[in-house]
Amino acid sequence: AAGDRLPLPKGHTHTEVGRLADDINSLADRLVTSLEDERQLRLHREMDEKKYRAIFDNAETGIFIADRESRIESANPALARLLELPDNTELTTHQLSNLSWIRPDRPIELIVNCIDNNCLCVDDLELRLVDGAIRWLNVVISPIGGSRVQGLVSDITERRQAEDLAKMQAVTDPLTGAANRPGFEQILQMAIRRSETSEDAGFTLMHIDLDGFKRINEALGLPVGDEVLKIVSERLRNHLKPTDTVARLGGDEFALILSGVSSAESAARIGKRLIRVLERHYDIEATPIKLGASIGITIYPNDGHNMPFLLRNAELALDHARSNGGNRFSFFDRGMAEAAEQRRTLEIDMQLALQRDEFKLFYQPIIDITTNRLVGAEALIRWRHPERGLVPPDAFIPLAEETGLIIDIGRWGLETACQQLAEWKKERKDYYLSINISGRQIPDGLPPAILADAVRRHGIDSSRLMVELTEGVLLSDVRRAQEWLGAVRELGFCIYLDDFGTGYSSLSYLKRFPVDTIKVDKSFVREMGSDTEDHALVEAIIVMARTLGMHVVAEGVENREQLGLLRKMQCRCVQGFYFSRPVPIEEFSAAAERINTLLTPLCEKRV
Ligand code: C2E
Ligand code: CA
Ligand code: CA
Repeated sequence: AAGDRLPLPKGHTHTEVGRLADDINSLADRLVTSLEDERQLRLHREMDEKKYRAIFDNAETGIFIADRESRIESANPALARLLELPDNTELTTHQLSNLSWIRPDRPIELIVNCIDNNCLCVDDLELRLVDGAIRWLNVVISPIGGSRVQGLVSDITERRQAEDLAKMQAVTDPLTGAANRPGFEQILQMAIRRSETSEDAGFTLMHIDLDGFKRINEALGLPVGDEVLKIVSERLRNHLKPTDTVARLGGDEFALILSGVSSAESAARIGKRLIRVLERHYDIEATPIKLGASIGITIYPNDGHNMPFLLRNAELALDHARSNGGNRFSFFDRGMAEAAEQRRTLEIDMQLALQRDEFKLFYQPIIDITTNRLVGAEALIRWRHPERGLVPPDAFIPLAEETGLIIDIGRWGLETACQQLAEWKKERKDYYLSINISGRQIPDGLPPAILADAVRRHGIDSSRLMVELTEGVLLSDVRRAQEWLGAVRELGFCIYLDDFGTGYSSLSYLKRFPVDTIKVDKSFVREMGSDTEDHALVEAIIVMARTLGMHVVAEGVENREQLGLLRKMQCRCVQGFYFSRPVPIEEFSAAAERINTLLTPLCEKRV
């Protein structure tokens, strides 16, 4: 023991024996010191090991050492917990690769790669747990020599789920829970890829649009509209297979992918069923709402080999269903694509037509039959197409309205009409001119200030220029239309209500939209002679207009019989082929002459 010493035998302090005893004593001292040092060292080591052991044992991260075959040689409790291994003591009997990984080969791949390339290998792996849930694990493997690796495993399920949720939200419509447009495009792309790589028979893509949804939104408010969209989505889902896709592309547009449906017969059957299902009443806040749906159908791969074509063709088919009255489905056919191509050409041509000055106004005389005088004309546009000749407005105005080009065309028309009015003023003719205005021009395409500016620049009175509108034009946005009308009348322009009798035409509309003159639609005038109902209707319109202090122009007067009847009804103004077709300005004077002759008392007597 430390301090124990060999006593010196008496009288031997300086003898050999004494020196020997000294040596032994000092040796014993050094031995004791060494032993003490070593004890201290061991103590330190034990303390260190305990310390690391505690870290190892208490770590949240799973730590292990494994061999090339993924056999676990040592591991901490966290690893057992993360991998749902039974017990710490039994850990070393396990092989990592035997667990229920979603990608079973991946752990071995990582380990082998780590050992062979002597590098760190990292991946996120999915492990199926006993209860069926999935746990995401981040695995970091590093080489430690001797064909062994050390691994760190941490649970990243929450992070992955949050990421997945974010990804899900990016492809989901929050209102209906259906896929949104990006989500739909992803699924469609996958469906195409699947059909390409397998003998899978293809699929059907349907593009659905609700008829009359805008009206519901406007009349009953957005929350009701939202509710309708939710129910639509639910009904679609309930009437399709779980493997089919329902997506909301935006607004009231939905799209479906029906996997495995590749015959027109089955697609038609489903289309019919869906229309029936969507037609049912929607009961929202005790208001029964009725809606229809139009469906465009394309079948992959016949109707388009890739996503853009398939989507475009489904939309063309949808347009076809819609323009045929809605509440029906249409299959895509090649003719639709050709028609679309023609429209595109027409659109480009129309753009050029403005630059090349190919539009022309024709003028159809309007006659006051109470004074037998030509009082004005309606300006009707024509397009002198370099190849197609004179194109009538019905062939291009609808497309111009759709594309917005009508705004520029309308400005051109206004300018040209004002020039003509200025010309007549110079010639001391007090004719007025009426111009046709499309819905797309109201209110911002043709602001009242532009109208005022045009007449001012040409030095004409605003009372010489009439504005013809149809009721449909006024109904799309009632409040703004009323404001526009009010401002335009305030400036001194007169409003003509065109094609009266063909739309909703009721007294209440006339009250809501103050107009100066009603134009009785030519369809009533045409049938007046033979159809007593039309006869009564025209008469009623004339009487009603008079009561409301409005003027009437009967259009489409083609013969003397019609003229005679209108005279009897005390109609004031007429217009029609009987007097003159719309003519270019060069022929207007001649037309006026002819009309004068027609109106001479001699001719009149024969009426
Ligand atoms: P609308 O305003 O109802 O014009 C009357 C149409 O009836 C004209 O056809 C005219 O030629 C035709 N018509 C006139 N008298 C008779 C008749 O006795 N019998 C028959 N069967 N038809 C007659 P048009 O010129 O082809 O114009 C068609 C439509 O195009 C117009 O209908 C109008 O809605 C639109 N439109 C014409 N010019 C313009 C324009 O400059 N801007 C806008 N936005 N639309 C225009
Ligand atoms: Ca008109
Ligand atoms: Ca008309």
